[in-house]
Amino acid sequence: MDVHATTECFICEKTLKMGHHRFEGFGITDWGVTVCTSCKKHTTDGVVETPELLERMREAGIAPSYNSKGHIIIPR
Ligand SMILES: [Zn+2]
Repeated sequence: MDVHATTECFICEKTLKMGHHRFEGFGITDWGVTVCTSCKKHTTDGVVETPELLERMREAGIAPSYNSKGHIIIPR
């Protein structure tokens, strides 16, 4: 198992380094994806949808739910 594996933020597509002492992402269990620290921090109010994000969600089989502001809710 490679402890220095990288993964990609589902929202901004930034490359994240994952390892024993370094974990730059948060797993969104409900979606089966990882998002970066910065996206996680800025999505307490939901994430503004983009065509790219909707496309990735469709590919991953995720149905978006929206909050009252029309932002996509990121499951906790
Ligand atoms: Zn991100």
